[in-house]
Amino acid sequence: MKKSFFISGSILLLSAVTTFTACSGTFTDQNELAGTKDRETVSDTSSVYCISTLPREELSDAETAGILFMREEEKVARDVYTELYSKYPLRVFDNISKSEQRHMDAVKALIDRYDLKDPTEGNDYGQYTNTDLQTLYDKLINDGSAGEIEALKVGALIEEKDILDLQQELDENVDNRDITQVWTNLRKGSEAHLRAFVWNLKIRGVNYSPVMMKKDAFDKIINRN
Ligand code: MN
Ligand code: MN
Repeated sequence: MKKSFFISGSILLLSAVTTFTACSGTFTDQNELAGTKDRETVSDTSSVYCISTLPREELSDAETAGILFMREEEKVARDVYTELYSKYPLRVFDNISKSEQRHMDAVKALIDRYDLKDPTEGNDYGQYTNTDLQTLYDKLINDGSAGEIEALKVGALIEEKDILDLQQELDENVDNRDITQVWTNLRKGSEAHLRAFVWNLKIRGVNYSPVMMKKDAFDKIINRN
């Protein structure tokens, strides 16, 4: 009797700790934690996307469109890095493609939460419902096939676009707290990815200049660690 009380108490305590860890953590990025020691690798923890403690609020048309778009944009990133890793076995492509899978999962959690139809359903790697993103994927794969340096530049460009699109969603379209949290975390992840690609280019003698972002905004992100 005593023993079983102890056990159930321990389980209670354990689950409390787990819940605390899963739902209260701020964004953690191994690349940030590692500082300058290992800037080639980057990963993030999926637990930071826990949104279950936040209210399910009314969803606007703009928020809906943003969720459906970001689900596929994260897929573009995952698919491009997966394809580029098969051509150029650099750790950065492998690590970041896995991180993009977690970003896709985070958007899927919003899709499920708001009962939306997943635009990636039935689509294989490199296939998109959004025709603009299909065109973008095809172009990026073509550009990235020119060599390792071009492939790393494609990575940096994807992250620039991702950061700008997420920021635009946050600035113009979103007020729900759960969506705000996911987009903020994805943006932080994208910033870490951008630093990783720019650093990989730098050690290969290439100074990457932003293609889509304003120079000062880009510099702010790059100089953050
Ligand atoms: Mn991403
Ligand atoms: Mn990314």
